[in-house]
Amino acid sequence: MEKNSFLKTLTENNIEIKNNVCLKELTTFKIGGEAEMFITVKDEGQAVFVKKTADKYNVPLFVLGKGSNLLVSDNGLKGATLSLELNHVIFNGNIVTCGAGLTLQKLCVLAMEKGLSGLEFAFGIPGSVGGAIYMNAGAYGGEMADCVVSAKYIDDAGNIKTVSREDMALGYRTSIFKNSGYIITEATFLLKEGKREEILGKMNGFMGRRKEKQPLEFASAGSTFKRPEGYFAGALIEKNGLKGKRVGDAMVSEKHAGFVVNCGSATSKDVKELIEIIRKTVYENDGVNLEPEVIFVGE
Ligand SMILES: Cc1cc2nc3c(=O)[nH]c(=O)nc-3n(C[C@H](O)[C@H](O)[C@H](O)COP(=O)(O)OP(=O)(O)OC[C@H]3O[C@@H](n4cnc5c(N)ncnc54)[C@H](O)[C@@H]3O)c2cc1C
Repeated sequence: MEKNSFLKTLTENNIEIKNNVCLKELTTFKIGGEAEMFITVKDEGQAVFVKKTADKYNVPLFVLGKGSNLLVSDNGLKGATLSLELNHVIFNGNIVTCGAGLTLQKLCVLAMEKGLSGLEFAFGIPGSVGGAIYMNAGAYGGEMADCVVSAKYIDDAGNIKTVSREDMALGYRTSIFKNSGYIITEATFLLKEGKREEILGKMNGFMGRRKEKQPLEFASAGSTFKRPEGYFAGALIEKNGLKGKRVGDAMVSEKHAGFVVNCGSATSKDVKELIEIIRKTVYENDGVNLEPEVIFVGE
């Protein structure tokens, strides 16, 4: 990694860059060490430039959304962490196109205000539009695959490409973007005309269900595990008597066993250890292999 040349090139091109940024503050788990170099871009052109420069100088590049599905290592992230301040929103009839950095929540509210239905399920999902496409985020019977039409991204060579939904390989918490190194910059959704009050009512209904069922009072990264075929992760974990199980400040939520929560100063190591205890117990007693939904990043 030719760090100095990388930093010099970006600085000369007026790209915002900070050293040693604490990622704990930038993740919903409130866990993680520092990003060695933290870069914020304000438009697609800057994102392309950062991507090409990182490749040129062999700097690893990690794209951070809103950090709501991540477990960042206590040792932090080497190389560059890229944050996209791409927050534009353009409505054209029933079609909405927005920047990948926009929060999903904001998009849902704007669509509701326009009387456009289709995103209600996503209202309580934290995170950015880019992160939601990457994960094919979903809830309450809906997922991004139901309403996304296309996405724009920067490929390996630094070219801007557009991919339509059919070619996004959207599946349960997965897409072509997963582990690809591509940077999603924009997404387009097709919504339906609806009544504002009804849309808002559905959004609030889903949010109410979240507040009732999920440990939103604690820091977490949402569901720790994917739903195993034929089971619910939370029910299996609860059945194994693991509610309230702790390693340091990492704990299986008493409210919903599918969530590992941070009771205050949990480390990434604590969470990983707890995840391993859960997986081992559930595998030994039920023969089910729980696969983490949370993404581990850093060493
Ligand atoms: C309380 C709580 C409730 C949750 N409920 C749900 C739920 O109901 N359904 C659900 O699906 N998820 C849920 N989640 C998980 C999380 O909110 C989603 O996975 C979300 O889509 C992640 O978006 P993000 O922007 O935070 O991505 P991050 O966590 O920052 O990143 C996730 C991955 O996406 C990649 N990524 C992010 N943006 C881009 C981009 N622009 N280009 C390329 N790669 C990118 C990152 O590199 C990383 O690999 C919940 C989380 C919490 C904390």
